[in-house]
Amino acid sequence: MFRWLCSCLLVLSSALLSAPLGADEPLRIIAFGAHPDDCDIRSGGVAAKWAAMGHKVRFVSVTNGDAGHHEQGGGQLAMRRRAEAIEAGRRIGVDYVVLDNHDGELLPTLEIRQQIIRQIREWKADLVLAPRPNDYHPDHRYTGVLLQDAAFMVTVPNVVSDVPSLRKNPVFMYFEDGFQKPAPFRPDVAIPIDDVIDKKIDALDAHVSQVYEWLPWHDGILDQVPKDPVARKAWLKKQRTPALSPAIREAIAKWYGADVAAKTVNAEAFEICEYGARPDDAMLRKLFPFAPR
Ligand SMILES: [Zn+2]
Repeated sequence: MFRWLCSCLLVLSSALLSAPLGADEPLRIIAFGAHPDDCDIRSGGVAAKWAAMGHKVRFVSVTNGDAGHHEQGGGQLAMRRRAEAIEAGRRIGVDYVVLDNHDGELLPTLEIRQQIIRQIREWKADLVLAPRPNDYHPDHRYTGVLLQDAAFMVTVPNVVSDVPSLRKNPVFMYFEDGFQKPAPFRPDVAIPIDDVIDKKIDALDAHVSQVYEWLPWHDGILDQVPKDPVARKAWLKKQRTPALSPAIREAIAKWYGADVAAKTVNAEAFEICEYGARPDDAMLRKLFPFAPR
């Protein structure tokens, strides 16, 4: 019985995977980060581009960020970070949700998997972004695991049955990271974001407790943060302009050509997750409709 059920689910799943995206409807993208700034850091530029085109983007922080500071903590910090996240989302045209799970204590539990399934279903997502499950921070790691655990279940009606299941399995993709084991990040899609980098920095600038307080304190460079709001935003931009890897330039060249790839300073890249729908290049072009045809 169980094997029969599983094979039926697989047949159903492969039928769902082939459903096309509506041509005229806005795309619906949902990104998950462990903390209320993770999505912005990894996909704030692309999100600003989607939003400017009328597509719908939601960022979800799986924890409330209540451990991310050296002088504050608990409910007061969680409230501060929620307000920062909502302001960051407003600056790039993104809806921001902060789930009320403790920072620094995230585990891949059934309860939190169900929270994630609800979010993906309620957003009726075409594309889901999340970290890979290999990362220095356990909250990042388990956010990756939770998304993998949700990737098929969003299509199963008897799971989290109070929210209608999706008839079309979304595409799941990972944010870029620098971790090499068990496998380095593979940029299946890389999008130049030089045209929106100031917007992205503006979104990050809203996370005052993080970018100007906690992270510089943790890195031992708090004394380098300028006091003046304009000067500190310029400092932040410098901090957030890492060198692009050869693999990312190659991925940019695939759709934008070698000239654009050579000139690009800022980009965001994504790797296809093996779970959820498996997109071909045509589907990827629909989901990332930025490159010239
Ligand atoms: Zn984080």
